[in-house]
Amino acid sequence: MFSLTKKTIEKLLNIGFEDEYDNDVNQKHVVNFSYLMFCVSGLLLLIVFFSRNMPYVVFICLVGLWVGVIGLRYSYRGYFLRAQLLMPIAKISQVAILSLFYFGAESGFHLLFLNVIAYAFIVFRADQRFIQYWIVIVSIVLFLVCEFLSPKGLYLTSFDQNLVLVCVFLFTAFYFAVVIRLVMNRLKAVNHHLRQLAERDELTGLSNRRKVLADAVNIFADSVINQESCVFAIVDLDHFKKINDTFGHEAGDLVLTKVATMMASVIRTEDEIGRYGGEEFIVIMPNTNLKEAEATMERMRESVENMLIETEHGIVIPVTVSIGLAPIAPSVSRYEEILAQADKGLYIAKRSGRNRISVQSIYQD
Ligand code: GH3
Ligand code: MG
Ligand code: MG
Repeated sequence: MFSLTKKTIEKLLNIGFEDEYDNDVNQKHVVNFSYLMFCVSGLLLLIVFFSRNMPYVVFICLVGLWVGVIGLRYSYRGYFLRAQLLMPIAKISQVAILSLFYFGAESGFHLLFLNVIAYAFIVFRADQRFIQYWIVIVSIVLFLVCEFLSPKGLYLTSFDQNLVLVCVFLFTAFYFAVVIRLVMNRLKAVNHHLRQLAERDELTGLSNRRKVLADAVNIFADSVINQESCVFAIVDLDHFKKINDTFGHEAGDLVLTKVATMMASVIRTEDEIGRYGGEEFIVIMPNTNLKEAEATMERMRESVENMLIETEHGIVIPVTVSIGLAPIAPSVSRYEEILAQADKGLYIAKRSGRNRISVQSIYQD
């Protein structure tokens, strides 16, 4: 029940969305939420004043409700600017009319201008500053007019006015809480998305060169400080140029993706793997001795050799990898030296016939 309500609300907030990471997503959420709140509060007012037989107020609420639905429709159909603009116009008119002519300043109804000001600051971008300032100025002026020109409500008893004040307080608090949450959640989601873009290799989904080298620095430093063993490996696909030349670049991409997924599934969760460039990958195995690392890399080599990668025409592409390994040594102060050793191992593996692993340790030099 709770998750259904949450899903429905999310659906309503996402009205009119196409790109999840659009620049205006934050604003769109707040606009849709404002319309939803506007409609719900309008409906409540309508019920209350209908039961009290106050046709003018009911009429204003009905108009407000109608405008709210139009705004949501604009949002749904992608007329975002119209939806953006209609909300403050509707809200300012409704609050000013009801406060000035019916509720009076003591009800605090005109405090709802605060919501309009918050809306203006969140929903309009820097290049819409002109509109933003106008909404803020009009809201402040009308707030002052309501405050000083209409102290007594025509239709509300003093108990009613107190009740309205409490409702306005709760409504405003809820509005601010949700809007701040929406903005924070969006920022978090966009931040996560940007990080993914900056750290992921688009084709294989593995860490990209920047990320895996950053991991290499950190893991190397931790291993040296804690005096733990750690092994670096470089994996290179064999005769990959030939795969591209024979089966086409697209098939080459498919091979890269499938091999990358397979390699990532072979290593442990604490190991890191990333695309170093082209058809080369780096594997970092922290807290691992050379024997364990050799076994893991041998398993990786074997798994790739046994893969059945088919082109869309059903042709099986044979693929193998060569792997160079190097453990960190106490005498080494930079991770690049270990990578260079692993690269040396890779070179030897290639020279000795490919589809094999080769260990290069600094101790051997
Ligand atoms: P070796 O066994 O000695 O490693 O031979 P190789 O053919 O694998 O190595 P070489 O460096 O000669 O060729 C690598 C090829 O990888 C050349 C390049 O076009 C291809 N390549 C690099 N990045 C990509 C990519 O993202 N997609 C595809 N399809 N090919 C790529
Ligand atoms: Mg290669
Ligand atoms: Mg290569």
